[in-house]
Amino acid sequence: MSSSAHITHSPSSRLSETATETAQFGTVFSDHMLIANYENGRWGEAEIVPYGPLPLPPAPSALHYGQSVFEGFRAHRTLDGGIALFRPRDNHARLNRSAARLVMPEVPASLFLDGIAELVRLDREWTPQREGGALYIRPVYFAIDESLQVRPALQYRLVALASPVGPYFAGPVSLVAEERYVRAFPGGTGDVKPAGNYAGSLLAARDAQEHGYQNVLWLDGMERRFVEECGMMNVFFVIDDSVVTPPLTGTILPGVTRDSVLTLLRDMGITIKERSVAIDEVFELRAAGRLSEAAGVGTAATIAPIGRIRYRDQEIDLTPLGSDSILERVRVKLEAIRTGREADRHGWLMYL
Ligand SMILES: *Cc1c(COP(=O)(O)O)cnc(C)c1O
Repeated sequence: MSSSAHITHSPSSRLSETATETAQFGTVFSDHMLIANYENGRWGEAEIVPYGPLPLPPAPSALHYGQSVFEGFRAHRTLDGGIALFRPRDNHARLNRSAARLVMPEVPASLFLDGIAELVRLDREWTPQREGGALYIRPVYFAIDESLQVRPALQYRLVALASPVGPYFAGPVSLVAEERYVRAFPGGTGDVKPAGNYAGSLLAARDAQEHGYQNVLWLDGMERRFVEECGMMNVFFVIDDSVVTPPLTGTILPGVTRDSVLTLLRDMGITIKERSVAIDEVFELRAAGRLSEAAGVGTAATIAPIGRIRYRDQEIDLTPLGSDSILERVRVKLEAIRTGREADRHGWLMYL
C-alpha cells in the first residue's frame, strides 16, 4: 500500500479503553495528527506526526483576525470488521467553500482525503468498538502568517486530529429562542464554518444555561422571527405528517447530517418541506396538536430530540422521541448505514 503522507510514528500508544469510554466529547485525541503547510503559493507534502504541541509564530493572523475554518465528521467500525469514513468528500467540499469565503486557498482533495484516510488507518485502534461510538475527525485550517496586516495571509496550515467519541446519551435538549443575539445574517458567514461563528455564539448559549436551558434556538437576524438553527445544529420539525426544516437561504449552515436526514426521509417516502418556520407558528402548531416532534441534527449528536422550547414568557414541552417517531426511525437508519448494517445506497461510506 502506498502511503500518501509521510509518517513519523509515535513512540508508544496512549490508547486506554477506560479513558476513551468515559471522556467528554473532544477531550481525548489519538496518537497521531496530520499536518500540511501552504507557502509560496503551493501545498507542501502532508505529514503524520505524533499528537502534540505545534510551533507557531507569535503573530499568526488566524489568532488576530480569525482567518480559520474547520470541519467535523466521523469514522465508524463497520459490520465486516472494517472502518469507514462517513461522507468525507462532502466535508472536504464544505471546507473549501468556507476557505473561499475567507479568501484562503483551496485544499486539494488528495491532500485532505488521502491524508485523513492514512491517519485513521494508522490510529484505527482508537475507533471505539461499541455501538454508537465513532472516531471524530476534526480538520482545522488556518493562517499562520506572522503579520498584523489585514489581508489574506500567504501561509497556512491544515491540521487534522482524531478523537474517539462515545454514544451521545444526553436526554432531550431544552432551548431558549434567542432575540438579542444572532448567529448569522444575510451576507455574513453563517453558511460556512469559520472558527469565529462559534466564538460569537458562546454568550447566548451561556445566557441560556444561566436560565436553566441547555442551548439556544436561533432566530433570523432580520426579523428575529424565523427559526434557523438549534445550538450548532440544524433544526427539524414534524408537522402533521411531514418533516419541515428551514431552507438553505444563506444564513443556515448546510449540514451533512441535515442532507443525510432529508435523503433518508425521501427514501422512506415521507413528505419534506424546506420552508421557513416562524417561532409563533411553532407554539401555535404545538397548541393545536399538529407539531409532534422537533430535533437538532449534526455530526456530533446525530439527531438530538428537543424537549422544551422557551420563547418570551411561554414554554412548550415536546414529547421525547419514541421508537415509532419519524426522527428516531431516521436516526436508527442513519446509524445502520454508517456502520455497514444497511446498504449504502447513496455511496456515503469511504472504506479504508
Ligand atoms: C457544523 C454545523 C452544523 C452541522 O453540520 P454537520 O455537517 O451535520 O455536522 C450545523 N449548524 C452549524 C452552525 C454548524 O456549524
